[in-house]
Amino acid sequence: MNSQSNKVAIIGGGPAGLSAAIYTSRADLAPVLYAGSPPGGQLMLTSEVENYPGYPNILGPNLIDIFRKQAEKFDTKIIDENISSVDFTKNPFTLNYSDKTVTANSVIIATGAKALWLNLPSEQRLRGKGVSACATCDGFFFKDKVVAVVGGGDTAMEEAQTLTKFAKLVYIIHRRDSFRASQIMQARVKGNSVIKIIWNASIEEVLGKDKVEGLKIKNQKSEIRDLTIDGLFIAIGHKPDTGLFKDKIILDEKGYIVTSTFAAIRAARSKELDLDKFNFNYQTMTSIPGVFAAGDCVDHIYRQAGTASGMGIAAALDAERWIMENKSIS
Ligand SMILES: Cc1cc2nc3c(=O)[nH]c(=O)nc-3n(C[C@H](O)[C@H](O)[C@H](O)COP(=O)(O)OP(=O)(O)OC[C@H]3O[C@@H](n4cnc5c(N)ncnc54)[C@H](O)[C@@H]3O)c2cc1C
Repeated sequence: MNSQSNKVAIIGGGPAGLSAAIYTSRADLAPVLYAGSPPGGQLMLTSEVENYPGYPNILGPNLIDIFRKQAEKFDTKIIDENISSVDFTKNPFTLNYSDKTVTANSVIIATGAKALWLNLPSEQRLRGKGVSACATCDGFFFKDKVVAVVGGGDTAMEEAQTLTKFAKLVYIIHRRDSFRASQIMQARVKGNSVIKIIWNASIEEVLGKDKVEGLKIKNQKSEIRDLTIDGLFIAIGHKPDTGLFKDKIILDEKGYIVTSTFAAIRAARSKELDLDKFNFNYQTMTSIPGVFAAGDCVDHIYRQAGTASGMGIAAALDAERWIMENKSIS
């Protein structure tokens, strides 16, 4: 290995990447973590986090700060830059950022995902103040309140169902006259008396100065009316940050990275994947030996800081073992 080469490079500075960094640095693998710009990931967009084990109440950015300090304590080198390209065709792998090139024997990808937003100025201003993209995370704050979910897919149906555990009334606002969600999810929503569907409507503005107080919604005839609500949940989809890895490792049709575990799950449902490309001794390994992936760039189901951290830890342990078992490459 030459002097600029690392044993482990981690791409992504959210909970998954930072958890992988804590474990690989404590395993003496001296990881370099490329945290992205801006660093920190999705938790930087939220205020209160009440469900990360060990922290009954902490601000998202503070939780990230604690993760970073813990990783740095064990000598992780953190660089707040975006990796712009990678070459996984031979080991050591090559990563580029700014005008620099670095190499690594093992790479852990933890580039996360982005929630899609409506991109209204009022929605952006009230993010974390009643506007959310995660019912599991923030539904608890709306006990006995009125909330609205925007969207028409399975995610929107699930978010609405989750919110009925807390809110007294849940509107689903959808711009068409039918949902694209699966029939079973639609049936559950339509059969739930706490949920009221507003068809053919779009959101023009989120109302409220310091917190959400209502919406201006427009119907098909372009008539605008106010709707009083306390919280707005945007459920129009997520996009994994994996463009960089297209044609370099196997991604699924939505761009999520396929690891051994997820390949096995998919294979159980359909026969479309070549399972010979996956090594089931390493559950977080991608289709390239030595390249692992964790967190929301892999997982489109759970999408929590805790599950992302857990996957980051698993990826770190897999990478550590893989390096041990493939000593000849370093
Ligand atoms: C509004 C909101 C509120 C939430 N609230 C909660 C909550 O209360 N509790 C909870 O458990 N979960 C919550 N979540 C979900 C949680 O934030 C995510 O599940 C978690 O952050 C996923 O972690 P991750 O490390 O996989 O990815 P991310 O947090 O998305 O981090 C990915 C990182 O990769 C970096 N990156 C991307 N591309 C590159 C590149 N090319 N080079 C270098 N770096 C790159 C990004 O900059 C980012 O730092 C919330 C999410 C949102 C959007």
